[in-house]
Amino acid sequence: MPKDNPGFNTLAIHAGAQPDPTTGARTTPIYQTTSFVFNDADHAAALFGLQQFGNIYTRIMNPTQAVLEERVAALEGGTAALAVASGHAAQLLVFHTIMQPGDNFIAARKLYGGSINQFGHAFKSFGWQVHWADPADPANFESQIDERTRGIFIESLANPGGTFVDIAAIAEVARRHGIPLIVDNTMASPYLIRPLEHGADIVVHSLTKFMGGHGNSMGGIIVDGGTFDWSKSGNYPMLSEPRPEYAGMILHATFGNFAFAIACRVLGLRDFGPSISPFNAFLLLTGIETLPLRMQRHCDNALAVARWLKGNPQVAWVNYAGLEDDPNHALQQRYSPNGAGSVFTFGVKGGYEAGKTLVEGLQLFSHLANIGDTRSLVIHPASTTHRQLTEDQQVLAGAGPDVVRLSIGIEDAADIIADLEQSLGRL
Ligand SMILES: *Cc1c(COP(=O)(O)O)cnc(C)c1O
Repeated sequence: MPKDNPGFNTLAIHAGAQPDPTTGARTTPIYQTTSFVFNDADHAAALFGLQQFGNIYTRIMNPTQAVLEERVAALEGGTAALAVASGHAAQLLVFHTIMQPGDNFIAARKLYGGSINQFGHAFKSFGWQVHWADPADPANFESQIDERTRGIFIESLANPGGTFVDIAAIAEVARRHGIPLIVDNTMASPYLIRPLEHGADIVVHSLTKFMGGHGNSMGGIIVDGGTFDWSKSGNYPMLSEPRPEYAGMILHATFGNFAFAIACRVLGLRDFGPSISPFNAFLLLTGIETLPLRMQRHCDNALAVARWLKGNPQVAWVNYAGLEDDPNHALQQRYSPNGAGSVFTFGVKGGYEAGKTLVEGLQLFSHLANIGDTRSLVIHPASTTHRQLTEDQQVLAGAGPDVVRLSIGIEDAADIIADLEQSLGRL
């Protein structure tokens, strides 16, 4: 890249990639191989002992995956990244690296439904507890911190309601207590928000959504902010104590400001195994090249649709932070001035039944459980993604019985609005 400090659009296309040194291929190749030949026995030993970086086996790393990692680390402003099979795998590896049985973390109550399940149920079998906090007030996190708390987890832009969170204020709470702030940046993407610039320590993504952007491949990533001191408290033994499987190596002492990403790879990914396929890494990389263009169009279309819905007499309410009179508008302007994202909720007059009828009458929109596709998507969270939750939990998560969630695509805004108009007209 020509200059020292390339802009976001340039990084989205070039970061981490160069023409293939052996063939000249300009696009990053799909290195569809399980394993890599060693130069000699010493080389093999150095790779296994972490004395030298290099490819051994695709469960642990792969050259296509490595370009994806460098690209996302550059876009987020982190020191290193680890790409894995899905967003949920990324979350599992993050917590595996910071938690011991009996430890806890504080998570925002407004989260992707799958994360609420993962934290509240699956993590219990590791002996990890979650405490929930309403992210509207940072004090709600602080009041629950105890001597076994090892982290705070929030979404920068919360699913499904499209609510912004005061990242800097929550980061301040985490800093005061010497624990890392982990931010799920899936809904915003680094085009809208770079959480590390607001004091977060670790960023995770479901690359499945806006980053890949085309609804064709699963992926997740962990970005190491490089700023957290893993050795200070003694509470993060995976990073601060000698590792028996690496001849007593202390990962934080050895790898410094990218030790967290290394630990997630050489302990979590190595032993649990949720690696990303080289083909998915390739598709996600291709998607990321147009992230800035797509994200802006997603946001512009979503604002046009939200304004139109707001003026429709059959619509009870619209919850979109991009609207000037939305209670979240000031936070949106502060954290995400380029736009308010493309996922938001609204309520149809007539509640649960009207919401279901509206969803069934849409033709351009696809009725499915995903967000961040080029196509416009719709779902009724209470009967699908948030179905496992109690009604109280649904309401607290912004997914009550009357809520319809849209993920606005990058088609023509006029066509998206026309589809909503014809379906609302049938009610
Ligand atoms: C989809 C999603 C996840 C989980 O990611 P997968 O790739 O489906 O495992 C986590 N967080 C948010 C905000 C999501 O939208």
